[in-house]
Amino acid sequence: MEKLRKIDLSSPIQYLKGVGPVRARKFRKLGVETVEDLLWFMPRRYEDRSKLSNLSSLEPGETKAFLARVVSIEERKAKRRNLTISTALLTDGSSFVQAVWFNRPGLKSVLEPGTKVAVYGKIEIREGIKQVNNGEFEVLDEDSSPENVGMIVPVYPGTQGLVQKWIRKIVKEALRLIEEEVEDPLPIDILTKYDYPDFFRAIKEMHFPSSRESWLAARNRLAFQELFLLQLGLAVRRRSYVEDNKGHKFNVNGPLVDAFIHKVLPFKLTDAQKRVFSEIRDDVSKEIPMNRLLQGDVGSGKTVIAILFMLCAIDSGYQAAFMAPTEVLAKQHFEKIHKWLTPLGVKVSLLTGSVPSAEKRIIYEEVSNGLVNIVVGTHALIQDNLAFRNLGAVVIDEQHRFGVLQRGILADKGEHPHVLVMTATPIPRTLTLSVYGDLSVSVIDEMPPGRKDIITKSVKKEQESELLSFLKEEIKAGGQVYWICPMIDENEELSIASAESRFSHLREIFKEETVALLHGKKPYREKEQIMRDFEKGHIDVLVSTTVIEVGIDVPNATVMVIEDPWRFGLSQLHQLRGRVGRGNKQGYCFLLGRPDDYDGKRKIAAMCSTNDGFKIAEADLAIRGPGEVCGTRQHGVTDFRVANLLRDRKILNLARKEAFSLIEKDPKLEGYPKLKELLLRQLGDKLDLVITA
Ligand code: ADP
Ligand code: MG
Repeated sequence: MEKLRKIDLSSPIQYLKGVGPVRARKFRKLGVETVEDLLWFMPRRYEDRSKLSNLSSLEPGETKAFLARVVSIEERKAKRRNLTISTALLTDGSSFVQAVWFNRPGLKSVLEPGTKVAVYGKIEIREGIKQVNNGEFEVLDEDSSPENVGMIVPVYPGTQGLVQKWIRKIVKEALRLIEEEVEDPLPIDILTKYDYPDFFRAIKEMHFPSSRESWLAARNRLAFQELFLLQLGLAVRRRSYVEDNKGHKFNVNGPLVDAFIHKVLPFKLTDAQKRVFSEIRDDVSKEIPMNRLLQGDVGSGKTVIAILFMLCAIDSGYQAAFMAPTEVLAKQHFEKIHKWLTPLGVKVSLLTGSVPSAEKRIIYEEVSNGLVNIVVGTHALIQDNLAFRNLGAVVIDEQHRFGVLQRGILADKGEHPHVLVMTATPIPRTLTLSVYGDLSVSVIDEMPPGRKDIITKSVKKEQESELLSFLKEEIKAGGQVYWICPMIDENEELSIASAESRFSHLREIFKEETVALLHGKKPYREKEQIMRDFEKGHIDVLVSTTVIEVGIDVPNATVMVIEDPWRFGLSQLHQLRGRVGRGNKQGYCFLLGRPDDYDGKRKIAAMCSTNDGFKIAEADLAIRGPGEVCGTRQHGVTDFRVANLLRDRKILNLARKEAFSLIEKDPKLEGYPKLKELLLRQLGDKLDLVITA
């Protein structure tokens, strides 16, 4: 029975003829629930079946489309139970071919002798006869043209038991039903300016391309649309900071800043640090709240910048909050900040999950009455119980762990505070523009003086004993070693077991040295004690799982050994490597064990060929894709259906330019209701967008 409901983009796909609960469920697994999802469910590849072949010209090994008639068909059961074999003899007048299908009972009644069929499949020779096994076919009326052959045909990804031919049919049906309904969400002048096809044509062309050129135009248009939408969202966010003129003007030449630079810091700021600090000063001396991203490779000295920024707030009578991604890191930042600032009369507190609740209550109290100037912590900072008297500066370290929204939650604890986001994982520019596109960007592109490039080497398992003797020498010379054991199959038990066995092995070898083991399951106090002993140089070799991943700063550590390096992400490897060579001594990174797979080899090659975090990040993006590089917590803002951040840089730049200029002209998108609706629907929650009428 024909379904009479009116179909639009938001209709569930069950409204389409032929989609029942079973298929709907399969589609849902592929992320397709509405007609709109279906239209954006893009083919993985295409097969060119546009040229029909003569049977006489078919060569074995070729995959071809042809038209033919059924001469005869027979169905038999194979000896193996439950296997039906249907064999049809087909001809087009020029030659014959035998078509064989397995397990398609009932085919006999569909392909009666005389039936006209279009077939697509691989030609083989069996016992001297041309044969096609399990070819895709379509029964044709005498005068109809074939739908699945005779054209360029889409092949959809990972289809969970959904038949390709049937998906094509449903997509076609959806296209037919919505053709009249869809309005193009993009502004007409943009379409004209870039000569883009309209939305409907573009979508149709993606599924059923008419030519390579028109497919490419369609693809670029849809990629543009995705990137444009995200940039619009970012432009709206950005505007909301700028519009909101209620930020605090800081005194950027106060006594604390001065005393810190001239009396506390044991070194001079690098030129890059000076430049970045002056960018921040410019921002915070205005009423517009700052929202700035600070990028800088591991060890480039971001923490000092964060401290200077916070001191501007305190000099101006405000409080500051510093959020780190892990407890160990929060603690380490706290200690440094505490040590440097307490002599200046600044009160610094640490708030993490493991602070006993009695102590927590005191901190809440002291933060809310303004006694505490700086609170350093983990996620514990965004809990409801913590309220500030007057939060003026927010620092978020290692941002990619937190995601866009958490940034907002901490900032909401103040009245329009200035926000500094720091990432130690340099990320490629395309990704910066996509994920942090609402922020201003500062880059520290210079290392503190005396820093030497870390020497990175790939070491075969068979060379382990040589590596161990090298480590002995290095320890004798006063160095310290990190030995990282990987996460195994996402399984903590397994990983800890392997770290434990490595630990006892190394203890056998390093009889005169001190070896310690650190992993996530150890109680916090114990971890802390071990880290402290390592910092003080009481431990020579620290065997660890990835708990020491980011930010840890022990300048005397000179060697990093990473076992099974291919199990880590590339950026993670670079982070780990950044734990050594932080002082003046030469640092080494040994990647122990060689991978078999291509991606693994690429990672090792990238690590051995460069120390430049930005190059590493580009390579990482190429290997893993944007979702992974940013961590899964980015709420899917970069899960594009068509756009590709590696390939579409040009389009991204256009989209950004157009989006920001549109929001400039029409901040509330009043002239673009369709676009506004789409933006809020797709990104409203993800980007926490508010567009008031
Ligand atoms: P990041 O957070 O960027 O990885 P840190 O801020 O932890 O780097 O700094 C790395 C190390 O370099 C720290 O020990 C820090 O005290 C030191 N450092 C920072 N700036 C300078 C500088 N200008 N000169 C010398 N050492 C510096
Ligand atoms: Mg850091």
